Amino acid sequence: MCRHLGWLGTPVSVSSLVLDPPQGLRVQSYAPRRQKHGLMNADGWGVGFFSDLAGDVTPRRWRSPVPLWGDTSFDSVAPVLRSHCVVAAVRSATVGMPLEASATAPFTDGRWLLSHNGVVDRTVLPMLPTAESVCDSAVLAATIFDQGVDALGDTIVEVGTADPLARLNIMAANGFRLIATAWGDTLSILRRADGVVLASEPYDDDPDWEDIPDRHLVEVTADGVVLTALNRSKGS
Ligand code: GLN
Repeated sequence: MCRHLGWLGTPVSVSSLVLDPPQGLRVQSYAPRRQKHGLMNADGWGVGFFSDLAGDVTPRRWRSPVPLWGDTSFDSVAPVLRSHCVVAAVRSATVGMPLEASATAPFTDGRWLLSHNGVVDRTVLPMLPTAESVCDSAVLAATIFDQGVDALGDTIVEVGTADPLARLNIMAANGFRLIATAWGDTLSILRRADGVVLASEPYDDDPDWEDIPDRHLVEVTADGVVLTALNRSKGS
């Protein structure tokens, strides 16, 4: 994925996060402001969220191989999809990767939603049968799920050490926690009165957006926001 966004807070409409902001993911699909790799994000998009229905813990997803700006049916339903926890992404496919919905974030293990903004050499990753696609991001997602999302920081340092050219910005959420890494690409945070947004780039010009420094992990829970430096493995 080339641009992604996560939300944890009170229930809000998916359109208010993804479609409506003046520089939100819809606009970022054709005119991102801070993207360093690729010009636009026209190779599909996806959104995942946790519903507020009692007892429903299943991550719900809508993924598509068409550009977000052309997904007019989603326009119609997004204003009434409400969630307290959302992960969304627009994709600029890495050369050689498949163009299909299954290669598009967010990926899931049935509990977590996970998006990868970046690129990684698949030969440094285990080829797990649980990967949703042969796309590098799907293989990385399967690796992170296999090692446990709690170990995300360690996994990113390990993979980044095995592939020094990798860019490993991750966005993951399970309904209670929103976790992201900055490793090679931009990441910003907006602390709102009703919740926290993490995004590859600000969706508007609110001066409250702050940049997350590179090689850091940020975790959002109901208790607040914790920022942790990710250090390279010893010997690298
Ligand atoms: N490598 C991933 C893909 O091909 C993500 C690409 C990106 O972040 N630009 O989908």
